[in-house]
Amino acid sequence: MDRNSPPLAVLAETTADVARVVTCCNRYGVPFVARGSGTGLSGGALVEEEALLIVTSRMRSILEIDLPNQTITVQPGVINSWVTRAVSGDGFYFAPDPSSQIICSIGGNVAENSGGVHCLKYGVTTNHVLGLEVVLPDGSVTTLGGDLYEYSELDLRGTFVGSEGTLGIATAITLRLLCEPEHVTVLLADFSTMEAAGRAVRDVTAAGVLPSGMEIMDNFMINAVNDLFGTDEYPRDAAAVLLIEVDGHFAEVTAAAEQSTELCLAAGARAVRRADDDKDRELLWKGRKSAFAAVGQISPGYYVQDAVVPRSSLPEVLTSIERLSRSHCLPVANVFHAGDGNLHPLILYDPAVPGIEKRVRDLGAAILRECLDVGGSITGEHGVGADKRCYLDWMFTADDLSTMSLLRRAFDPLDRANPGKVFPTPKNCGESSRRKVNLKFEDNDFPNEMDVF
Ligand SMILES: Cc1cc2nc3c(=O)[nH]c(=O)nc-3n(C[C@H](O)[C@H](O)[C@H](O)COP(=O)(O)OP(=O)(O)OC[C@H]3O[C@@H](n4cnc5c(N)ncnc54)[C@H](O)[C@@H]3O)c2cc1C
Repeated sequence: MDRNSPPLAVLAETTADVARVVTCCNRYGVPFVARGSGTGLSGGALVEEEALLIVTSRMRSILEIDLPNQTITVQPGVINSWVTRAVSGDGFYFAPDPSSQIICSIGGNVAENSGGVHCLKYGVTTNHVLGLEVVLPDGSVTTLGGDLYEYSELDLRGTFVGSEGTLGIATAITLRLLCEPEHVTVLLADFSTMEAAGRAVRDVTAAGVLPSGMEIMDNFMINAVNDLFGTDEYPRDAAAVLLIEVDGHFAEVTAAAEQSTELCLAAGARAVRRADDDKDRELLWKGRKSAFAAVGQISPGYYVQDAVVPRSSLPEVLTSIERLSRSHCLPVANVFHAGDGNLHPLILYDPAVPGIEKRVRDLGAAILRECLDVGGSITGEHGVGADKRCYLDWMFTADDLSTMSLLRRAFDPLDRANPGKVFPTPKNCGESSRRKVNLKFEDNDFPNEMDVF
């Protein structure tokens, strides 16, 4: 919803470029904001103060592939899906797969600790980052972690992952690679009630099956994606479809697929379709992967909420979202990582309607309240950024927040890296004063070959 033009942006190509620019920022007291591909959904890369935008999208080199040790080292602007593309010929892949994986950058994934369909079984970005080269807010370059799977030091790598650009800029990232599974099967179960779909999620996981992905789309979303592709791939009259992917050795996958099918039918599924080859699997996933785009086709605007609830509370929370949608007179479409309890209600609206954004935000906040009431979290994978910072104190005490701020200050004592993001302040939760800084750099501050806008 929020838009802003940065007063100045530089397109860096190397770690030395980033270090030099950040050193200049430090010299002149100028705050800076890192930006990868700009697909973030919590406003993390917005420039809200007089700050310099440091864009990493030209830092697109794969620096090293070490297959015997199953690692790859990349610059931050490398696109998520390029990592798997670089090693798939050798039977390896990079597990974290946000739905935006064909456009989002690894630097952005690290900053947001991004998740995706396969994170249910394989973990989120932090479980796949071994080491980081980082330009700290004073312009110095340091390494956190490395290329080993275990370190004895304090886990500053883990602290950096998910810090949303507030601790410095990642300029090289060493990632873990996994071996491609021997076999993959996808199931599509359709249900006449959302409660039954939620029950199936609970029953499959409670039975000890650990799918690599478990995603739900509601009726609105089913029809939106069918319309986008002009097909009837998902049953149009279903209240919900549940996609379950299982991977591993052939025998293990076959057993898990059969067990999941039985459990879905017992939970009330009307039918379960099964896809074993690449083409059929892709067809089943295609709609899910295009869900946001499909909603973009039918609504002039939409706001994606991101929250987590315990899996067992899914049916209850989805019913509450339906009630809130009616009471706020705003349609909501649901598509979510059901196995992780990570909800993404999409609130549909027309930006041309006066005052609508406040109504949308109010509904988004009411949904967050419901999620917190059942023991959930205000964000799952999209981060706090600018969007959720004023809700952070719904989850954390003043002591919690000041402890987190102390940690941040250890990296960034002068509040220069992505200022105002994540942590609530009276300023960003109410007053609207922009920090005035001098953005006049000297001509020779930046290398000649670096683009400055
Ligand atoms: C259609 C769509 C689907 C999506 N699906 C998912 C999904 O399934 N799962 C998911 O987790 N997210 C999803 N997202 C959100 C988004 O794609 C991720 O948060 C992604 O990781 C952001 O990457 P980016 O390169 O676009 O980062 P940006 O938007 O450019 O930046 C995001 C944050 O990272 C910081 N940052 C960027 N680069 C660096 C760096 N090198 N060092 C330090 N900080 C940095 C920025 O300052 C900002 O705070 C989706 C977004 C869209 C538009």
